[in-house]
Amino acid sequence: MMARVPLIAGNWKMNKTVGEALRLVDEMLPGLQAVQGVEKLLCPPAIAIMPVAAMLEGKGIGLGAQNLHWEKDGAYTGELSTAMVAEFCQYVIVGHSERRALFGDSDLNVHRKVTAALAAGLKPVLCIGETLEQNEAGRAAEVLSAQLRAALEGVQINSAEALVVAYEPVWAIGTGKAASPEPINTLLRNVVRPTLAGLLGQELAEGVRVLYGGSVNAANAGEYFAQPEVDGALVGGASLKAADFLAITQAAA
Ligand code: PEP
Repeated sequence: MMARVPLIAGNWKMNKTVGEALRLVDEMLPGLQAVQGVEKLLCPPAIAIMPVAAMLEGKGIGLGAQNLHWEKDGAYTGELSTAMVAEFCQYVIVGHSERRALFGDSDLNVHRKVTAALAAGLKPVLCIGETLEQNEAGRAAEVLSAQLRAALEGVQINSAEALVVAYEPVWAIGTGKAASPEPINTLLRNVVRPTLAGLLGQELAEGVRVLYGGSVNAANAGEYFAQPEVDGALVGGASLKAADFLAITQAAA
């Protein structure tokens, strides 16, 4: 079995002007480049993608968008097409819980976005996660497998690297209440990877990277990366500080 290369992705959400984004990249770039054996990915706000792409050229650091639209082009005010994103990015975050909760990213739309991203050669970082209510009702496993099936049913990938899954319990995102590492590992081993195997076949599923996301910081990152099923992290708040994001990336090495 091929080892999965850890991936550390920073989701900057709606933070940083273009000027601030460029300063942050400048601050973190030398440190990130020095970390070996870890894939690094920055997902700035859409308006900063182009200038950040110019800064990252040839630096070995990936670039991702935070969203896209599944239609090729047309009257979709405010949206970005896959071709627009693919001109600069290798990755795109799809189905983030904030988009599911605030911007109408239904399971169907998440499926459309994953399909469109793959068709354009973009690697989706597919976010799944249960709410606090669902967690307390003991429904995490059911919710995660349903979200995976809805997003990936009928989807073909040619290689395991083409898809990344991010397990982000909604109650852990931006709350400082990081989930305990061992139960995360159990859920990934017993639910997420077997569901992926059912959808993609055992071999591809074994190679797909599954990240944890939710209040990951410089202090707790190592505990997640010590779990065999956790292949990296999708980092929100802590990705906005160069020293913290760097420390998380170093913890994955
Ligand atoms: C996220 O937005 O994907 C996330 C995990 O945020 P935070 O790290 O701030 O909890």
